[in-house]
This record gives sequence, C-alpha cells and structure tokens, in this order.
Amino acid sequence: MNLILLGPPGAGKGTQAQRLVADLGIPQISTGEILRAAVKNGTPLGKQAGPLMDAGKLVPDELVVGIVDERLKEKDCARGFILDGFPRTIPQADALAAKLKASGKAIDHVVSLEVPDEVIIERIKHRAATSVEKRSDDTPEKAQARLKAYAEQTAPLKSYYAKAGLLRTLNGVGALDQVYALIRKAIGA
Ligand code: ADP
Repeated sequence: MNLILLGPPGAGKGTQAQRLVADLGIPQISTGEILRAAVKNGTPLGKQAGPLMDAGKLVPDELVVGIVDERLKEKDCARGFILDGFPRTIPQADALAAKLKASGKAIDHVVSLEVPDEVIIERIKHRAATSVEKRSDDTPEKAQARLKAYAEQTAPLKSYYAKAGLLRTLNGVGALDQVYALIRKAIGA
C-alpha cells in the first residue's frame, strides 16, 4: 500500500507512521528526518537545508524531490511506503505523481490529520519541554512559521488529492490509539 500522511506540524504523522510501519511492514519515509540527519552530518544537503528548517520555512522542492526519488528506488519500498512530510507543495505532488506513474505505481490513500492550530502550539510546547532529542525548530515562534508554511503551501494539497479521489480526512485530536483506529479504517487495513 502506498500512503501519504498529510497534516500540520505536530499533527502526529510521525507517531502514527511508526505504528503503520510495525503493522503493515512497509517503510516510513520522513523527509524531515532525512533532512535532520543531513544537517547533523554536515552534508552539502544539510548545509543548504539547515538554515531554512531552522526558520520554519520549506526547503526547495528540487532538494526534497531528489531525496524521495532516491529513497523510493530502494528495495524495501517495493511493497509499499508511507510518506510522512512529503509532498508539502503542489510541485512536489506533481513530481511524485510523475515518478510513480513512470514506475507503474500510484498513491492509494492520502490521510489528512486535522488538528486545530491552538492544539498544535500546545503539543509543540510540550514536545519542546519533554523530548530528549531537542529540535531547534520547536519554539513557539518557529512553530508559528511552520504553521504558516503549512497553511499557505501544503494545505492546498487537500483539494488536489480530493479531486483525485484519494483524500481521507480525519480528526487528529484525541488519544493516539483512537486516531490510529481512524487511520486504519480510512485506509481499509
Ligand atoms: P513538522 O511536520 O513537525 O514541521 P518535519 O520533520 O516534517 O516536521 O519537517 C521539518 C522541516 O524540514 C520543515 O519545517 C521543513 O523545513 C523541512 N521539510 C521537511 N519535509 C519537507 C518537504 N517535503 N518540503 C520542504 N521542506 C521540508
């Protein structure tokens, strides 16, 4: 199964993706995690992406499209994959569609986790205060910038995928188990 998880920062995409990995046996592809690893390792990609990520802005489409193209070629993606944090713009979605089509694949479901901004801000504050591995973009100001980038650049993907008949919208507020059950139901798995 080929899935996309959509939703604002802090919506719980990463956590839910990990559960899906365990239960469906397909890999999670998180562009945020791949980029954070590149920053940590000081690679050219990391040097380019780091300052943008730190400011809560999106990194250029070409960079993330390249990352995902490479990742999707790996063997473990043959039976399916869970995209978490990609695509985040219409050009990224177009690039993904073209790439998949060329290899005879397609997206099966796009799951959008709906969480109001106030809840997101509270979650990010909590994550910043309690997590071991601190993220430099988990401050209230940077969270606002990320929410703005989401509203302006990523939220339009909802109508994009709705038109394609792929969008499954669900309430992302609630217990993790409850949200996970909604996701499983939405994807029929
Ligand atoms: P969150 O969803 O909490 O904002 P992510 O880990 O998905 O966190 O992403 C962290 C940062 O990495 C983003 O704010 C952005 O700068 C960059 N990033 C991740 N994925 C993409 C993408 N598909 N396109 C552009 N930038 C991205």
